[in-house]
Amino acid sequence: MLYNSTRDGKNKISAAEAIATGLARDGGLFVPDTIPALNPEDIKALCNMDYRQRAVKVMSMFLEDFTVSELEVFAGKAYGLNYDTPDIAPVKTLDSNTHCLELWHGPTCAFKDMALQMLPHLLTASLKKTGETRRVCILVATSGDTGKAALEGFADVEGTKIFVFFPKDGVSDIQQMQMTTQGGDNVGVCSVVGNFDDVQTGVKLIFSDEKMREELTEKGWFLSSANSINWGRLLPQIVYYISAYCDLVKAGRINLGDEINYCVPTGNFGNILAGYYAKCMGLPVKKLICASNSNDVLTEFINTGVYNRNRQFFTTVSPSMDILVSSNLERLLYELSGKDAELISGYMKELTDNGKYTVDRDIFSAVQSVFSGGSCGEEDTKNTVGKMYREYNYLIDTHTAVAFKILDDYRRGTGDMTDCVVVSTASPYKFSQAVLSAIGGNTEGLDGFGYIDALNRISGVKIPRPLDELRQKSVRFTGAIEKSAMPGRVKEFIAE
Ligand SMILES: *Cc1c(COP(=O)(O)O)cnc(C)c1O
Repeated sequence: MLYNSTRDGKNKISAAEAIATGLARDGGLFVPDTIPALNPEDIKALCNMDYRQRAVKVMSMFLEDFTVSELEVFAGKAYGLNYDTPDIAPVKTLDSNTHCLELWHGPTCAFKDMALQMLPHLLTASLKKTGETRRVCILVATSGDTGKAALEGFADVEGTKIFVFFPKDGVSDIQQMQMTTQGGDNVGVCSVVGNFDDVQTGVKLIFSDEKMREELTEKGWFLSSANSINWGRLLPQIVYYISAYCDLVKAGRINLGDEINYCVPTGNFGNILAGYYAKCMGLPVKKLICASNSNDVLTEFINTGVYNRNRQFFTTVSPSMDILVSSNLERLLYELSGKDAELISGYMKELTDNGKYTVDRDIFSAVQSVFSGGSCGEEDTKNTVGKMYREYNYLIDTHTAVAFKILDDYRRGTGDMTDCVVVSTASPYKFSQAVLSAIGGNTEGLDGFGYIDALNRISGVKIPRPLDELRQKSVRFTGAIEKSAMPGRVKEFIAE
């Protein structure tokens, strides 16, 4: 199997090349030219495997230029004692047809670990396979979760360095602590005066700086990003959709072959898109329910066929979903259009030029046959955290709450009571302040660890070790720089 850009169906490259390159030169995203088939026998076999073995099996179907033993080594490193449960991605059943897939048992307590613990191994191996002799420096602009997950993934990975910029007053106390105490000899972290947009623009400028690129090449380095457009970040996410299905079969909750639904709290469309690929492989999925917060550009698209980013931006209690441009949607449109690269290029040009596009009737009806979408406001998000805690004694974070609310709306609206897996993307402790107040706790006068301890006192739910241990860690990275100083800071870091 080979890969091609969503904007060019003809030029084919290997999986290693797709992962080493990240974004296609024509601006498109890399996609596999055929989607491997998972038949019921395969699923049955996967049921008797542990998470690591499932990851090896599923990923090997997409990575023909990697050996199984290579992937076993990667999976051993990515999904091991860095997780607080040997199940890695456990499924918790809440009632007869509602299940929750917990994707936050990794080192940073959010779902991005599922991919970012794996990506560094895929990337470094891909660079070797493609004959790249320069070393890679990963550059990240983060509004919180991604930066820490990328740091944790790349820390002390040979042949790499990683530098993370975050907005000085734009992340929570705990998120800042998570990043500024990061261990590893190849990591750097710095805050920038400004908001997330400023930081992201600064990083984009560095990526497009030809002169800097030449300078770095002379020194034997090149820059790359760890964002969710890289195929190496999407692929590990396909695994947990299949794994959750297997767990339900194994537990006798469903029979092999039964169709189920998944409800996914969505921002950049990376997580839910992996579910779509799992369905295309043959996993029995009926509906993928896309749950948005007030920034509901995707829900609007699913319900109208119009993608329109010209809209107000809201800052919400589910900040990791505060996104208006969902890059990964391009991959879905490519598949649903019957791989029409020309059509997709046209839509993306409209998006750049006018901030909106309308898909044709066939694509729209294909979207509607697979997806359902809904959006959830701030009050409903908080109320749902409280309701799940009272009714199920189950503590969830704000992003997961958006999904539970949308599932409830979906079931009421359609009467479809099919078994549904709600994808839980963060530990409630990662968003302690909002969660504490949602379950009726007093947040007055508290700060980062105060919220965590109060939440622990009230709920009795164990504090994840990586968050608890932050208290003892010393801050390694301090100070803030101006946006204009970012390129210089990166050069210094690479020379260190
Ligand atoms: C990143 C993130 C999301 C959104 O995932 P996408 O792949 O961008 O749709 C949801 N919840 C949490 C906690 C996240 O960190």
